[in-house]
Amino acid sequence: ATLAGAASLALTLSACGQTTAGGGKARSGEGTIGIVMPTQASQRWVTEGKTMVDDLKGKGYDAKLVYGEDNPKTQVAQIEKLVQDGVNALIIAAIDNKSLNGVLQQAAEAKIPVISYDRLILGTPNVDYYVSFDNEQVGRLQALYIIDQLGLEKGKGPFNIELFAGSPDDNNTQFFFDGAMHLLQPFMDSGQLVVRSGQTTLDKVTTLRWDGPTAQRRLDTILAQSYRSRKVDAILSPYDGISMGVLAALKADGYGSGSKPLPIITGQDAELPSVKSIIKGEQSQTIYKDVRELAGVAVDMANDILNDKTPTVNNRRSYKNGVKAVPARLLQPTSVDKSNYEYVLVAGGFYKDSQLR
Ligand code: BGC
Repeated sequence: ATLAGAASLALTLSACGQTTAGGGKARSGEGTIGIVMPTQASQRWVTEGKTMVDDLKGKGYDAKLVYGEDNPKTQVAQIEKLVQDGVNALIIAAIDNKSLNGVLQQAAEAKIPVISYDRLILGTPNVDYYVSFDNEQVGRLQALYIIDQLGLEKGKGPFNIELFAGSPDDNNTQFFFDGAMHLLQPFMDSGQLVVRSGQTTLDKVTTLRWDGPTAQRRLDTILAQSYRSRKVDAILSPYDGISMGVLAALKADGYGSGSKPLPIITGQDAELPSVKSIIKGEQSQTIYKDVRELAGVAVDMANDILNDKTPTVNNRRSYKNGVKAVPARLLQPTSVDKSNYEYVLVAGGFYKDSQLR
């Protein structure tokens, strides 16, 4: 409804020969897009912000790029300001998915279309489209890696595993965890995988704001309490920053030397420290998502919306955000480890070989 409203208002105004103040229509190459990213602490959002600004400028738009540095209140204030500035569309990767209801109401009243970027914004009707990766598949690929490396399908085990999940206020967290647990649970049921800490449900294993040191402290405690006389064989980690925290806790406990090999450790985002760690044989795997492509899709979507074209969506079921089903476009993630990083990341142009040495 928001979109139809924006389009019809724009048509009315352009028929009268007026320009819109704020939201409303801009023809290809006209207008300003607000890009609202969560933090610069993780490289992906920096890459995406820059890619979107460049792509938008290439199409003739102006762009305003802001980072909320993982503070939900800052992000709300930033969006409020962009609405007041009269941007023509908003592309938002939320910090706290449920904190944006009020400010998106203001955007809707100003007829500003909203694209929910990577993380689905929940609990508001004022989201027009969603672009992301297949987030359940991310979790499945992490689980499959563990299953494969431990030989679980060949009946091997029992092995000890500990589970880590992302930030509880990020909708993706649930998708990653569900995707992984769907495949791991049968091996827990059969006794081939054992979680010695007993922490197996999402509420017990989340990591606020995806913070590596927070994960590190949690694993410190688990290793001290549940692994004095045994070792951990696998860590399900949803994100490279968490994997780095996990590695630090393991090394501090003597893993990676002598008779205590490092466990299988998964990750996500193919961040530079993690790719280097994979090459060194420490972190085992990461999930690569071509965020340059995601950024391009979001820009194309904004461009289509502002030119009264229906953006391409490809998911069979729309994503329900608690209030409405949001039409979505999902891209595919790729599992990366030592065996294929050159092919995927270097040949694919994401990193130069020299960056990885
Ligand atoms: C993104 C992941 C990222 C995580 C932490 C999630 O919403 O989908 O790619 O690892 O946030 O930034």
